[in-house]
Amino acid sequence: MGRASMSSGRRAVFLDRDGVLNRALVRNGQPFPPASPSELEIMPDTAALGELKELGFLLLVVTNQPDVARGTQKQEIVDAIHNRLKAVLPLDDIFVCYHTDADHCDCRKPKPGLLLRAAEKHGIDLAASYLIGDRWRDIEAGERAGCKTVWIDYGYQEPGPCHGPAIRVQSLRAAADWIVEHTQEGQRGMPKSLSALKIKLFADGADKCAMVQHYANPQIQGFTTNPTHMRKAGLTDYEAFARDVLSIIRDRPISFEVFADDFREMARQAHKIACWGENVYVKIPVTNTRGEPSFDLIRQLSYSGVKLNITALLALDQVRDVACALAGGAPAYVSVFAGRIADTGRDPVPLMASAVELLRPHAGLELIWASPRELLNVFQADSIGCHIITATDDILKKLSLIGKDLHAYSLETVRMFYEDAAAAQFSL
Ligand SMILES: [Mg+2]
Repeated sequence: MGRASMSSGRRAVFLDRDGVLNRALVRNGQPFPPASPSELEIMPDTAALGELKELGFLLLVVTNQPDVARGTQKQEIVDAIHNRLKAVLPLDDIFVCYHTDADHCDCRKPKPGLLLRAAEKHGIDLAASYLIGDRWRDIEAGERAGCKTVWIDYGYQEPGPCHGPAIRVQSLRAAADWIVEHTQEGQRGMPKSLSALKIKLFADGADKCAMVQHYANPQIQGFTTNPTHMRKAGLTDYEAFARDVLSIIRDRPISFEVFADDFREMARQAHKIACWGENVYVKIPVTNTRGEPSFDLIRQLSYSGVKLNITALLALDQVRDVACALAGGAPAYVSVFAGRIADTGRDPVPLMASAVELLRPHAGLELIWASPRELLNVFQADSIGCHIITATDDILKKLSLIGKDLHAYSLETVRMFYEDAAAAQFSL
């Protein structure tokens, strides 16, 4: 992983000094630093820095001051200028390179050393950070460090940046405005973190190793299985598998399904499965294969204290009838297959929101958003107050992508295509 894909850490705006924070003295079209604190003129629009600060950015100055190495300036004077800047501007830190190109240091911009040192010291996420500068060396350093760069172009008589910038502006005010807008644009539609969600996340599957792994993750608050998963996992002894899993997972709900088609046999299997553990929920399909509703069986089992997970619902009238059959019985789940609804071209969100309302009067009943198709469904389900979402491994694997920086993700995608093409040894 390169620096650009780092996703944790604080955000910073790196600021060049002369021409950005204070006026550069321009002679023959070239900018020069003030020679002393008395020559220091703070830019009129530095109030914009306060707005960046309010957005949570650290303000870090990165400045080349080669006159010290050249012997035409004293480091004490540079320090005095910086003390003055720190006194009047909301700066968090100042990083200075005193070298010339001849010193071959790693910090003189366009090298990114000052930014990297600052990132190390303050724990900065460079990919989420910005640099504002007025010369090509600034922009180049920012680009090399993986930041987004803003070039204040004063029309100096010198070449502009070759790489970047993300945007060219004419003032610090415009630079700050662009960063504010760019940041907010990036955050619109930004998901909450998983821990900020109310919905419970269940793992759906029948692979014991995966289940044990998920059990180690406190974010996975329950488990569901079904005969299709079990068959895929190559299981032949249903009870042995269930008891094996239940010997490890004892304190989080786990659903096992009956597999008969006759209601009396379903009832027998349900009572047997319910005995396997306190945390067991018995899955009963909403109808048998002839389409006959299971409501009577559901009512009977629920009233006898069997915790149920009624499965394979796709329509709202089924939710209403199942809620009615479960009302006043043992705690139960109602699994609506939102993903299968989506597969028919219908938006499942309004239907699921109505299902939440239908279950609301019944304290012991919880709605499961079953068969999600993408990670986004976790957030959709949470936003309508759905109690539980149950997801297969392919979706759970994407949890680490929540809130990932889209530019970093784009870069990873480009690299994936490149590496796959290389691995396939294509030639044209
Ligand atoms: Mg400058």
